[in-house]
Amino acid sequence: MIAIAIACEPKLVIADEPTTALDVTIQAQILDLLRGLKDKLETSIVLISHDLGVIASMCSRVFIMYGGRVVESGLVDEIFYEASHPYAWGLLGSIPEPGEGRRRKLVPIPGSPPDLMAPPAGCAFAARCAKAMRVCAREQPPVTRLSATHRAECWLLDPRVAKRPSAEEAGL
Ligand code: SF4
Repeated sequence: MIAIAIACEPKLVIADEPTTALDVTIQAQILDLLRGLKDKLETSIVLISHDLGVIASMCSRVFIMYGGRVVESGLVDEIFYEASHPYAWGLLGSIPEPGEGRRRKLVPIPGSPPDLMAPPAGCAFAARCAKAMRVCAREQPPVTRLSATHRAECWLLDPRVAKRPSAEEAGL
């Protein structure tokens, strides 16, 4: 599949879950191959993945999508160290931390994704969000610009609604 994808030396490769169901050795080989192609052919890669480890090691910019929308975007460090959207907190909270003395239960995100055939009026994450407020179910949250490269869509970030919680308050 990768050979087919690069046969015409494309400027852009969209790699949708390229390492799903692979063991870690093959996964590392595939990621090395993609990195090599990027450098050699100067190809841009859009990597679609639920594997945050793969994202951290491969990506410079991250777009977190939920319910068909980009709910947070930023440079990789901004997403992994300064995440501002409750769905991003949920994703980061579900990463296992190996090592002695750091054992903790994984925290799942409760509930199910919304039915996009009948999308909710407000924030698509409201039914699963521990921080949801009344306005969340009624109105789509506005985009808040957190830096030149970092944006998020959440009512918690809007000064008209509430003070932004710290990462500690968010349980990170
Ligand atoms: S807008 Fe409301 S429901 Fe949506 S993620 Fe933010 S706090 Fe949660």
